[in-house]
Amino acid sequence: MSTSCRICEHSERKGCEPKEHTCRKNWSGSAKAMEPAMAVKMIKNIKSKGHTLKTLVMDDDTSTICKVREEVDPDIEKCSDKNHTFKNFTNHLFTLQKEKYKRILSTKTITHIKKCFAYAVSSNRGNPSALKANLIAIPHHLFGNHSTCDSKWCRYLQNKESYIPRNLPYGRYLSDTNLHEDLLHLVSSFAGQVDKLSSLESTQGNENFNYMVSRKNPKNNFYSGSESTSGRVAAAVCEKNLGPQYVTKVNEELSLSPGSFTLKDAERKMKKRKMNAEKTIPPPPPQHIQVPLPPDDYYRVYFDLETTGLGLSCEIIQLAAACGNECFSCYVMPKSPVQEQATRVTGMTFDGTTLYKRGLPLDAVSLDECLSSFHLWLTGIPKPVLFAHNCRQFDSIILCRAISNCNFHVLSECIIWIL
Ligand SMILES: [Zn+2]
Ligand SMILES: [Zn+2]
Repeated sequence: MSTSCRICEHSERKGCEPKEHTCRKNWSGSAKAMEPAMAVKMIKNIKSKGHTLKTLVMDDDTSTICKVREEVDPDIEKCSDKNHTFKNFTNHLFTLQKEKYKRILSTKTITHIKKCFAYAVSSNRGNPSALKANLIAIPHHLFGNHSTCDSKWCRYLQNKESYIPRNLPYGRYLSDTNLHEDLLHLVSSFAGQVDKLSSLESTQGNENFNYMVSRKNPKNNFYSGSESTSGRVAAAVCEKNLGPQYVTKVNEELSLSPGSFTLKDAERKMKKRKMNAEKTIPPPPPQHIQVPLPPDDYYRVYFDLETTGLGLSCEIIQLAAACGNECFSCYVMPKSPVQEQATRVTGMTFDGTTLYKRGLPLDAVSLDECLSSFHLWLTGIPKPVLFAHNCRQFDSIILCRAISNCNFHVLSECIIWIL
């Protein structure tokens, strides 16, 4: 939306009639009222296309939601956005740093406290009471008092002998009592809104698109007075929807052959994008409880996994196990492609519908089916104990996650993990 139009302004200055043009001026109200008006316009547009809208994920701008409720739907729900909430939390910490604790509260510490906060919020989705307890425990934990911590996340409780608060400066606990008080006060104020915090959603996709628009249509240059903005935003839409090769596609559409630099550039950006996608942090590994090996009356089951990649975020494509002369093997249909490094090890490829081993199609089932037949196979073995090569670092983590993702907890109950 724009409050001015270059062509209209130009002709006004010259005192003549403007030439025929698509006028950019489409807003005469205040700049503050623009955002709510745009939200209303967008939501009406979505509704006119036959979609239903129940919840709006947004920052904590009350005027927008009021306007939407007033003009479109009084029952529309509002849900806060994760990134804005985290940013808000860190801003409070930086204010504390600036105003009172220049020396004591380092930026490293702030980053760590933010991480603790973000972890608490992300891991307690839909569980306000657990989130509250977790939030209140953060300052105590940072000051070396672990009585309110939960062994689910507190590394000290997991390993009392060797724990060092590595993420704090010099590996030492914080000690300033005033800071403790202030931090407690801060998390308490956030703990007062746990109902909201435990149901946060992410607007990461929008932020990402906004970034693309701002690169092509930088705010410090005034483009919206002319048609330039439409073209720039359209280019950003293409980039978002088609990926970095969009320039090549536009060229082809116009019967132009893309130059070699354009091709190379697109390839480089695709590579970067792929690398970033692989870098995304996998969900925290399920917690293992270290137990001593039971006395002699158990059976050793050796298992091995083949996966779509070498990292911890990959998926299972084969689960094989052996116990004495009994064997089990099952191929699993993955949801993502098999990475090259994994293919080199396993010889397996996936074309989106069929799993192949050295070019031959395999009979693959869903992960659910695989786990349930593995469970069935294990029930034939009295007291099975699973063993694997590199079990603690890789196989047990992947298998545990698969079990919890499929809600197949009956399987985890019948397995004792030895790490
Ligand atoms: Zn105009
Ligand atoms: Zn702790």
